[in-house]
Amino acid sequence: MQGAPGGGVGPGLSPVDRWTLLVFSFILAAALGQMNFTGDQVLRVLAKNEKELSLLRDLEGLKPQKDTRLNTSIFLSFVTKVDFWRGPARPSLPVDMRVPFSELKDVKAYLGSHGLAYSVMIKDIQVLLDEEREAMAKSRRLERSTSSFSYASYHTLEEIYSWIDNFVAAHSDIVSKIRIGHSFENRSIVVLKFSTGGPQRRAIWIDTGIHSREWITHATGIWTAKKIVTEYGKDRTLTDLLNAMDIFMEIVTNPDGFAFTHSMNRLWRKNKSTRPGIFCIGVDLNRNWKSGFGGNGSNNNPCSETYRGPSPQSEPEVAAIVDFITSHGNIKALISIHSYSQMLMYPYGHSPEPVPNQKELNDLAKDAAQALYEVHGIQYIYGSISTTLYVASGITVDWAYDNGIKFSFTFELRDTGRYGFLLPASQIIPTAQETWLALRTIMEHTLNHPY
Ligand SMILES: [Zn+2]
Repeated sequence: MQGAPGGGVGPGLSPVDRWTLLVFSFILAAALGQMNFTGDQVLRVLAKNEKELSLLRDLEGLKPQKDTRLNTSIFLSFVTKVDFWRGPARPSLPVDMRVPFSELKDVKAYLGSHGLAYSVMIKDIQVLLDEEREAMAKSRRLERSTSSFSYASYHTLEEIYSWIDNFVAAHSDIVSKIRIGHSFENRSIVVLKFSTGGPQRRAIWIDTGIHSREWITHATGIWTAKKIVTEYGKDRTLTDLLNAMDIFMEIVTNPDGFAFTHSMNRLWRKNKSTRPGIFCIGVDLNRNWKSGFGGNGSNNNPCSETYRGPSPQSEPEVAAIVDFITSHGNIKALISIHSYSQMLMYPYGHSPEPVPNQKELNDLAKDAAQALYEVHGIQYIYGSISTTLYVASGITVDWAYDNGIKFSFTFELRDTGRYGFLLPASQIIPTAQETWLALRTIMEHTLNHPY
C-alpha cells in the first residue's frame, strides 16, 4: 500500500494537529541529534551500456570534505557524492542513488551533461522518515496499552531484544537463546535455536539485518520466528523438518549498526568499528568474509559503503558467526536475508564461475520464487549473485558454500525501489508471508536431500 503524505498520523487528527505533531517530531528528532535528510532524493538511472555505467561509477568517487564548523582548511573526512542504494551493475538493472540535497544540483547537471536520463524515485527522503517515525510511535503506544507486540511494526534494538526474551520464555519447549559473541561496541549477539531435541542435529541457518538499514529483513525475521513456533505440529513440512533438524536464526546480525539507524542515521549500512588513525567508521559486514576477500566488488577505502575491513573476519560480528557455524559442523543450509530488489540468489558472488551444484540451486531458486509469487503476486528474479546482481567479494553465502554448506542462498526482499530501504510497515506482514513460502521450499529440499 502506498501511503499518502502524512498518512501515518491517522484520520482522527485535524490538519492543524497533524502539523503540530510533525513539527514536534521534527524538533524531537533534532534534539536527539538524528541526521536529517530533508531534500535528499533518490534518483534512478537506467544505463544503456557499459560506458554509461562507468560514468555512474565515477559518482562514487570520494571527495574530500572540509569541516566547516572548525573553519579549517585541513581535509578531515571524505564523503561520496551519492549513496548507491542499487549500485551500477549491468545495463538491464536500474541504478538507484540517494543524492544529498547539497549535491543535488551538481549531480543532476552531471547526469544531464552526459545525456543520462533519470527519474526521481523518492522526492524527499525526510518525508518518508517522518512517516516511519510517526507510525512507530503510534504502534508503540498501542503495544503499551495492550501489552502486546505488533508484528506489523518496526522496532528498536531494545524492543527486539526484549521480544526475544519474552518469546523464548513463552516457547521454551522449542526455542532457546544462544549468545554467540559481542559486537564491536560490546552488544550481545544472539541467535534463536529452534529444536525438538538431539545434539548437533543437521541444521538450517537464517540471518537478517547484516546491513542495518534493511529494516524489512529484521521485521521479516521476527515474523518468521513466530511462524515457526505457530506452525510446528500443524504444517507437515515444518513439523517433519523440526523433528529431524534444527533451525538457527540471527535476527539482528549487526546490532551496533542497527542501534545507530535508530539513534542517529536511519540509512547506516556498515557496522560501527573504528581503528586508530582511520577517520571513517564501519566495515561492510557482507564484504568481510574469507571467501574471495579483497576481490572485485569490495572496497579498501574505509570511507566506502562497501569497505571490506583490514582482513577477513576482522569484525567481531562476522567472526562470531564463523566460529559458531564452524564449531557446529552440521549446518546444511544457510540463508542470508537482505533488501531490496526482489531477488533470490546463490553463489558465487566473487566469480562468474558456476558452482558444482548450480543446476540444483537454480531449480530450487526457481521453485522458491514461484512459491513466493503465489502468495501476493510479487515477482522475484533468481540466479547466481555475480550474474544476477553484480560481482561482490567476501560475502556470507560464498563463505558458507566454500565451507561445505551446499544450500546457500541470499534474498533481496521487497521492493524494487518505490520505497527502497524505507519500505512502509504496512508491507511487513505481506513480505514476511511470501518470504516464508520461499524459505519453506528451501528448507524442505534441504530436509529431503541429506548430504
Ligand atoms: Zn544488504
